Formats: sequence, structure tokens, C-alpha cells
Amino acid sequence: MPELPEVETVRRGLLSLVGKQILSIEVTRPDLRFPFPEDIDSIAGRKIIGIDRRAKYLLIRLEDNLTLLSHLGMTGRFGRSLEGKHDHVIIDFVDGERLVYTDPRRFGIMDLIHGSDEDHKLLSHLGPEPLGDDWNGDVLHKAIRKRNVSIKSALLDQKIVVGIGNIYASEILFRSGVSPKKLAKNISRKKAQEICEETKHVLLIAIEAGGSTLRDGQFKQIDGQLGYFPHEFTVYDREGESCIHPNCQKLVKRVVQSGRSTFYCAGCQR
Ligand SMILES: [Zn+2]
Repeated sequence: MPELPEVETVRRGLLSLVGKQILSIEVTRPDLRFPFPEDIDSIAGRKIIGIDRRAKYLLIRLEDNLTLLSHLGMTGRFGRSLEGKHDHVIIDFVDGERLVYTDPRRFGIMDLIHGSDEDHKLLSHLGPEPLGDDWNGDVLHKAIRKRNVSIKSALLDQKIVVGIGNIYASEILFRSGVSPKKLAKNISRKKAQEICEETKHVLLIAIEAGGSTLRDGQFKQIDGQLGYFPHEFTVYDREGESCIHPNCQKLVKRVVQSGRSTFYCAGCQR
């Protein structure tokens, strides 16, 4: 499932569309995870004036205060040409270019925002952006200090911080030396600061690498390139392999927390 670095990579790939005027939009079925909005055709004729991101939502800004919201779900991706039977949205531009949304499992979302983002039901409850200047160790510590859940679950809670999923939570906690099973309320102010710094660091490196394409090959950049961050995984998807820390003799373990795999080293993470 795409997390913040993958969505940010897609956002950067879409920036070349800014300034282009939409000729038409075609949807090949009535819905993805939810029905398409009835007035989706109203994007035709408008120019794209910007591409933003909030959490894992792409916000394609159009003229006259209209925004096309897109969430990639599990398997959604944007490309520049038709791929086949899972192409569900085709946007043609006046200059002859094309944008195609392909989504085999159809857990993605597309909607229109008329007016401000904060009023949209999918955006109104979201927590802080991890790469924002106002997200720091104090903010994280305050958000988790009364939470009786594991720190792994807390990092995945979109009200505490947005955009982090399974892959990056494992990587952040390994690099912070914090056990994923440790209760959020027992994380010190100092450790919260470390987790916060590692979060920003890991996300930025992953964005530089173009995100993470896993063995399923689902995630691709707009131009079809893969995301190369998996070459830098320190713990994710490495069950049974030696811990990368030279003085540690342990093997990477996998546990299932809330139905999802967590990878960690019992020697280095306390
Ligand atoms: Zn270790």
C-alpha cells in the first residue's frame, strides 16, 4: 500500500501537468472504493494550477477553486498511457497528452472538493504532517503519552501523524532503537524526539529514492520507473536475516500486530 513517500513521488511526477488544460475525462465504471462524484465531468475545460498532497491524498488543483482528490488505495497508480482492463479514469489534455488512473483492486478514491480542504470528510480529521516544521518531539510526545497502545499502532494512527504505514513504521522504530511492542504512553520525551527525527529522515531518504516498489511490483512512478528505497531497508521484509548492526548477533523477527507484519530486532530495539 502506498505510504507518504510513494504518494509524494507521484505528486512530483504529476507536476509536469501544471498549466495544462483538461479536454475531457472518461470513467470506465461507476465507482472505485466509492462512487465517482456525479459532476466529475466538470473538470473538463479547466487548467491544472497546482498539485498538492495532504497525508496520502493527492490534491489536483484546478481553476475556479475546484480540487480533484485522489487516493491510490492499495494498487492505484497514474501513468501516461493506457495499460489495459484496469484503467478506470482517462483524462485527456488539450495539448494531446493523457493521464490514466489504473487500479486492479479498486480500493482507490476519487472525489471533487468544492471549496476548502478542511471541510472535506476525508481530510477534516487528519493529524499533523510528519515533514511539517510544526511536527516535533513535543507534539508527538503530547499526542501519545496517554495512549495505551503499542508505539507501532500509534505511528499508524492518522490522527497522531499522517502518511506512515507498515513499511516506514518498522524502519523508523528500528532506526530509533525502540521496540514496536513498547506502549506509546511509556515513550519518554527524549525518545519521542528521536522517533520524530528518524521519521523525517527515513521519509526524506525514501522520497529521494522514489518510494518503495515491493516484490509485488504494484507501485510505479508516473513514468513507469520503480521506487528504489527497498535497497535501503534496514529491517522491513528481512525476517530471519542477521541484524545489520555489526555487534548484534540477533536475527530480524516478524510479529503480527493488528493484523499487519512488523519487522524488528529484539537485540537493538527496547
Ligand atoms: Zn540488532
